[in-house]
Amino acid sequence: MTVRRLLPHASTIFSEVSQLATRHGAVNLGQGFPDTDGPPAMLEAAARAMREGHNQYPPGQGMPELRLAVADHVAHHTGLVHDPDTEVLVTVGATEAIAGAVVGLVEPDDEVVVIEPYYDSYAATVAMAGATRRSARLVRDGASFRLDVDSLRAAFSPRTRAVLVNTPHNPTGAVLPPEDLEAVAALCHEFDAIAISDEVYEHLTFDGHEHVSIATLPGMRERTVRISSAAKMLNCTGWKIGWMTGPEELVSGARAAKQYMSYAAGTPLQLGVAHALRHDGAWIEQLRATMQAQRDQLVGILSGVGLDLAVTHGTYFLAADPRPLGVTDAAAWCRELPAEVGVAAVPFAGFVDDFAGDFAHLARFAFCKSPAVLEEAGRRLQALAG
Ligand code: PMP
Ligand code: GLN
Repeated sequence: MTVRRLLPHASTIFSEVSQLATRHGAVNLGQGFPDTDGPPAMLEAAARAMREGHNQYPPGQGMPELRLAVADHVAHHTGLVHDPDTEVLVTVGATEAIAGAVVGLVEPDDEVVVIEPYYDSYAATVAMAGATRRSARLVRDGASFRLDVDSLRAAFSPRTRAVLVNTPHNPTGAVLPPEDLEAVAALCHEFDAIAISDEVYEHLTFDGHEHVSIATLPGMRERTVRISSAAKMLNCTGWKIGWMTGPEELVSGARAAKQYMSYAAGTPLQLGVAHALRHDGAWIEQLRATMQAQRDQLVGILSGVGLDLAVTHGTYFLAADPRPLGVTDAAAWCRELPAEVGVAAVPFAGFVDDFAGDFAHLARFAFCKSPAVLEEAGRRLQALAG
């Protein structure tokens, strides 16, 4: 009985793959969640908040402590200054920030540009808003992926209200260079569109690659909703604490939608995250180093069994091409892997629509797992090497 506009999005690729992984006792390198906890002081701050009676609704826009900590964190890392009362909104993960921005800022007769492959919630939220999705794409550029600027230009039109941008990029692991973001910004100016910028992996960049927020480009602060989350920054994907920053007129539109999605959530968790943003900068830096080492470990494993890999400069993910093993349909391969090899991965097919053919041969493996778990995955994957 699902409504027509949500039928194509009836179940997420992550829950499908995780269910398969559970059924077959597979090592789950599909859904991206870490297997270790966030900073101990953050856990203690949240537990203390619970014990001290912070257990009722927070204010709809988020606990003041967290809004202030987010404003300071964003200012420290990007130089962008925001009023914590009107220009910061705490959300139920980045997922709700994306949905709030799309539903609260896009009219049903507007178009929203997305860049394939994209995080799966983007298309679903555009459908919820009743708007029209227009796709551009990334293309393989040497070892990594870049924006296909011609495809982006073709996707923009006078009806474009927003473009959804994600860097560091899930699922390719690309960190988009400033020139790509400049191309997006130029089209936003030309067509008077806004950018909804998903930066949940902002601190997970490797090998000296720097994350640049599109909101920092000339003239873009006024037309960008910048979204981040504690999930990937602080190893707490189950807490679902995210946020957005931007000019008041954009944040207030998103807030109008968000207050009827969840109203608000996670009072003590918000206080835990506020504590971590203030005090756990060194922990976040260490996480980056840990993830880089785990990336290297998984690169060794996957290339060792013959997969062709793109270079990951950020995020939790490696884009793997199994064609050297004779596999061309990565979706079918990912359905078989949990039962046949005991490892789960996510096909790029879950992140594409119009450009499905460009990415049908790719699968995403997550390396946000402890070295022993990756080692076990490596032992099982030996079966592929024959
Ligand atoms: N955007 C991207 C690119 C993601 O990978 C994820 C998953 N962390 C989200 C948004 C959703 O984030 P959250 O879990 O905070 O809702
Ligand atoms: N963001 C995570 C990923 O890309 C999972 C999110 C989810 O399960 N919805 O794997």
